[in-house]
Amino acid sequence: MSEPSAEHNAIPAAKPHRHPTLEQVRAEIGDCRRCPLAETRTQIVFGVGAPHARVMFIGEAPGRNEDLKGEPFVGAAGHKLDALLSEAGLTRDEVFIANILKCRPPQNRDPRPEEIEVCTPYLRDQLRAVWPDVIVTLGKYATQFVLHTDRGITGLRGKLYRAGHFIVLPIFHPAAAIYDPTKNDLLVQDFQLLGRTLAELDAQGEGQR
Ligand code: SF4
Repeated sequence: MSEPSAEHNAIPAAKPHRHPTLEQVRAEIGDCRRCPLAETRTQIVFGVGAPHARVMFIGEAPGRNEDLKGEPFVGAAGHKLDALLSEAGLTRDEVFIANILKCRPPQNRDPRPEEIEVCTPYLRDQLRAVWPDVIVTLGKYATQFVLHTDRGITGLRGKLYRAGHFIVLPIFHPAAAIYDPTKNDLLVQDFQLLGRTLAELDAQGEGQR
């Protein structure tokens, strides 16, 4: 397991005795207007997938297609993610996919620190509800939040880290690979590492659901 090992407040360290269901988290979010992104979004993009998935993917924020459809990773980035999942022996139905921010930043600008601060309590509750074995962080913002680091994604990707209960695998955002074959090759490698990691957890008798 590589450094940094993240034991910090961003990520739940131990499974709480009483943890919320995804339905309860969604109800808690309601028609959230905690930050100005509420003024420009079409809808909140909560997340989608298996409620007790072994793998939870955390991206950055909804883009235009996601904002319109209400689901993360649709369009070109979604097709790329689906193709990469097969490298790990997974399908979209078997994983849970969420974002750091639940609402689209205008013109897909970067998330702001104050937006991340007010929105990520929802993500922490989603983690408590799903309680995956492995978190895959997609790109810089998700990786820096989960690993509580300011290091860049290029130096962190492709290695396994520990954050509380969770094994964390940072990877490039799939959208970055659409026009960059070099990143695509690295993403394929990283999804293959994800598949091997799940197989090792199975062999150790961990991670079965
Ligand atoms: S981005 Fe998060 S905190 Fe801001 S309005 Fe949307 S759900 Fe609420």
